[in-house]
Amino acid sequence: MSLSINIPHKTYPNGVCALQDLHLTAERGEFIALVGPSGTGKSTLLNIIAGLDQDFVGQIAYPPQATLSFMFQEPRLMPWLSVADNIRLVLDAPQYQTDSARFTRMDTLLQQLDLQDFRDSFPKQLSGGMKRRVALVRAFVTQPSLLLMDEPFQSLDEPTAQELRQLLLTLWAENAPTVLFVTHSLNEALLLADRVIFLSARPARVILDYRVPLPRPRPLATSALQPLQVTLLQEYPALLSGVLTLPTFSQPHSP
Ligand code: ADP
Ligand code: MG
Repeated sequence: MSLSINIPHKTYPNGVCALQDLHLTAERGEFIALVGPSGTGKSTLLNIIAGLDQDFVGQIAYPPQATLSFMFQEPRLMPWLSVADNIRLVLDAPQYQTDSARFTRMDTLLQQLDLQDFRDSFPKQLSGGMKRRVALVRAFVTQPSLLLMDEPFQSLDEPTAQELRQLLLTLWAENAPTVLFVTHSLNEALLLADRVIFLSARPARVILDYRVPLPRPRPLATSALQPLQVTLLQEYPALLSGVLTLPTFSQPHSP
């Protein structure tokens, strides 16, 4: 699904301007990582795109038939519901009630993410990685055309995060949603994305739109990541602080 974002500004009622002159388009099926310093407005942007925050100046345009999933930093599972019931919660929405394949899809995804023996378990019985896998099933079971992910693999140990990134890439390749993935890890962004959009410090705007020159499928342990990262940060040393360093011009010679 193609997506077009034009936000002249988003200012909170307390006067904090989180986004300014933020313009971005995503092609159908594209995997985009959004990288920016903490507190710049990344979550604000995803909430606006999701329609959770309608108090902004600008337009978000996507096709009318678009379907959207959102995966948050916390897995946000209902503690009193089983794994299966947590997933059924999104399938009970009116637009899926006539979709007879939806429970088959849930079973297939539970198998694929190795959760079939935990259908009736409760969230507190699951590890952090397993909860994220349930959240991935819930995000993909509705076959979204747009998937918003807000630092979904934060606060996990690295092997678990890598395993989840691999699962995400497989699910993305099979289902082809457009993905907007917020992270503050450059490594994670380069590993996952087709394009990495770097944001300025608040108010957020796009400072660099970088196409990742790596083929797919991408092995997770690719040695090509490190040189890319080094080259980017040599060219733009303050990139991760949200500053695209301008070249310094020497003073013209006096005659
Ligand atoms: P990020 O996700 O990039 O860390 P956020 O989008 O959460 O940043 O926040 C951007 C800025 O907007 C921050 O300065 C934050 O304090 C402020 N902010 C977020 N939500 C609100 C709100 N509901 N009211 C006022 N200010 C907010
Ligand atoms: Mg955030």
